[in-house]
Amino acid sequence: MKAPTAVARTAPPRDGGLKSDGGKGTAPRPAPPATRPPAPTNGNPVHDGPAVVSTHFIRSRIGKICVAITGSTPADMMQNAEEIVRENHFVEFRLDYLANPAAILPKLKQFLYERGEVTAIATCRRAATGGKFKGTIPAELEILEKAAQAGCHLIDIELQTAEHTKPAQMKKLRSHGAALIISYHDFEGTKDLDAIFDRILPFQPEFVKIVATAKTLSDNVTMMRFLDRRRDEANIIGISMGEQGTISRVLGLRAGSVFTFASAHAGEETGPGQIEARTLRETWRIDQIDQSTKVYGVAGNPVRHSLSPLMHNMAFRRETVNGVFLPLQTTRLNDLLTLTREVPLHGLAITMPFKTDIIKHLAKTDAISEKIGACNTVVRAQDGKLYGFNTDVAAVVRPLERRLPLRGAKILVLGAGGAGRAAVFGLVEKGAEVFVWNRTAETAKKLARQAKAKVIRREQIAKSNFDVIINTTPVGMRGVKPLSILEPKELNTRLVFDLVYNPIDTPLIRMAREKGLPVITGVEMFVHQGARQFEIWTGKPAPEEEMLRVVVHALRQESAKLASS
Ligand code: NAP
Repeated sequence: MKAPTAVARTAPPRDGGLKSDGGKGTAPRPAPPATRPPAPTNGNPVHDGPAVVSTHFIRSRIGKICVAITGSTPADMMQNAEEIVRENHFVEFRLDYLANPAAILPKLKQFLYERGEVTAIATCRRAATGGKFKGTIPAELEILEKAAQAGCHLIDIELQTAEHTKPAQMKKLRSHGAALIISYHDFEGTKDLDAIFDRILPFQPEFVKIVATAKTLSDNVTMMRFLDRRRDEANIIGISMGEQGTISRVLGLRAGSVFTFASAHAGEETGPGQIEARTLRETWRIDQIDQSTKVYGVAGNPVRHSLSPLMHNMAFRRETVNGVFLPLQTTRLNDLLTLTREVPLHGLAITMPFKTDIIKHLAKTDAISEKIGACNTVVRAQDGKLYGFNTDVAAVVRPLERRLPLRGAKILVLGAGGAGRAAVFGLVEKGAEVFVWNRTAETAKKLARQAKAKVIRREQIAKSNFDVIINTTPVGMRGVKPLSILEPKELNTRLVFDLVYNPIDTPLIRMAREKGLPVITGVEMFVHQGARQFEIWTGKPAPEEEMLRVVVHALRQESAKLASS
C-alpha cells in the first residue's frame, strides 16, 4: 500500500496542462501573473491553498529521467535550462549551485510560465548534507517556498532538514502546491535503507528519495532489493552513487525507482557516478528496459573507459535484442559472482584480472579456454548454469588467416600475459612457428614450454626475419611508457599486428607504416572478439561492420578531444 499522502486524497489529478501550441513552448508569452490563476493553462500546478499537486499529475508528466541543471550565475543557469529542456522536460534546478539562489526566482517563474511542458524540481541542498548551499535551514526553506511560488512542481528537502523543521513550517512550505520529495544521501556506503525509509515515511512526502554509495557491485543489489521490497509503500527514487553504482542508475527503474537523475552533459554531474542523459537514453536505452531485458556486462578492473558497453549496446539495438550491457567495475571476483547470481546476469565479457580465476566458478569451459587457462566470455545457458569461452584466440587468429596462410608462418609474439597466451596457443594450433619474447624471460619460457613454441632473446630480434610480429603488451597504449615496444631496426617482418587499440594508430603501427608494412590494428581484434561474444550470447550473427564503425568513431573522437586539449 502507498503511504497515505495528503496529495493523492485531497487533490484530484489535475488536467495535464498541455499547452495549445503542442507543448513546444515556442510562442513568447507575457509575464506571469503575480498570483497563480485558479486553473492551470501552462502545465504548472494550481496553488489554490494547502492542496498539493497530485502525484498522479506529476507522474503523468514526467519521464524516467530527471536532468539536473546547474550554473554559476542565474543567467548561466537559465541559459543551461533553455538548452536542456529542448530534449528533457523533467529537470531539477540545483539552486544551491548559485551564490544567491533567491536571485534566480523571477527568471525561473517566467521560464516555467512559458514552458508549460516542463516539470521542475527545486533543490537547495545545504553543504552539511552534501549540497553547496551555505545558509541555514530556515534560509533553505524560504528559498524552496519561493521556488514553489515561482511554479516549481516539486521541492526537495533533506531528511535532516525535515527533522529539524517544525510542523507549522512544514505546512507553510507545502502551502504553495508543490509536491514534496524528502531525500537522504549517504556518501559513505549503502546501509540501513529500510530504517531511513521508515524515518522519512511519517512526513508523508509525495516522493521518497534515497541515494546511497555503492562501494561494491553487490551494493546495487542491496539498493534494488530495497526498491523492490518497499515500492508499494511510496513513490521511491533509489540510486547508488559512485563508479560502481552505474547498475542501479540503469536497472533501478525496473526494480521500482520512479525515476532517476542524469547530468545534462559529461562534466556537469551533480552526484558521483551520474550519467549523461543522452547516454542513458541512447546507449543504455533506459526507456526500453523492462523485466525481460537480459543483462550483460564487462567485468574487471579497470573497465571505466571500456568501449565494450558502447559496442554491445549498439549491437543489441541494431539486432533488436532485448538486452543491456553494463560496465562492472570490481577487483573482487566474489562481488562479481554475487551480482551475476542475484541480478541475474546473462553474459559477461571478462577482462583483467579475472580471466583465469573465473574458470573454476563455471560449469564448463570450451577446450581452448581450458588449454590456455583463460576465459573472456561467460554465458548463462538455458539450464541456468554459466559456461565459459575464449573469443580472444579467434580474434588473433582469424584476422591473420584472412591475410596469410598460418601453417609454417614465422611469427614473433611480444608479451606473455593473457593476450600473449591466447595468441601463442592459437597460432601454434594453426601450425605456425611461434617465437615468444617477454620482458620477464621466465614467463616467456613457461609459455613456450606449455604451448610448444620457442623463446627468442631480445638481441636476436633485430637479426631475424618474421612473417608477422604481434605486440601483446600494453606498450603503445595511451599513458604507457616506453612509447614503442620495438625499434625500427627490429621490425623485420611482412606484417605487423598491434593488439593495443587505444589509440588506433600506436607508435608501433606508425613505425610499420613508415616502413611501408601492412598492419592489423587492435581495433580489428577488439571488434572481432566482441562480435563472437555477441553471437555466443544471442545466437544471432553480429553486426560486425556497425560494431567496428561505432568503436572507431569513439576512438577517433577521443583522439581529437585529446589533441585539442
Ligand atoms: P597482461 O596479462 O597484464 O600481460 C601484459 C604483458 O605485457 C606481460 O607479458 C608483461 O610482461 C608485458 N608488459 C607489460 N608492461 C610492459 C612494458 N612496459 N614493457 C614490456 N612489456 C610489458 O595483459 P593482457 O590482458 O595480456 O593485455 C595486454 C595488452 O593487450 C593490453 O594493452 C590490452 O589492451 C591488449 N588487448 C587487446 C585486445 C583487443 O581486443 N585488441 C584484447 C586483449 C588484450 P611481464 O610478464 O614482464 O609483466
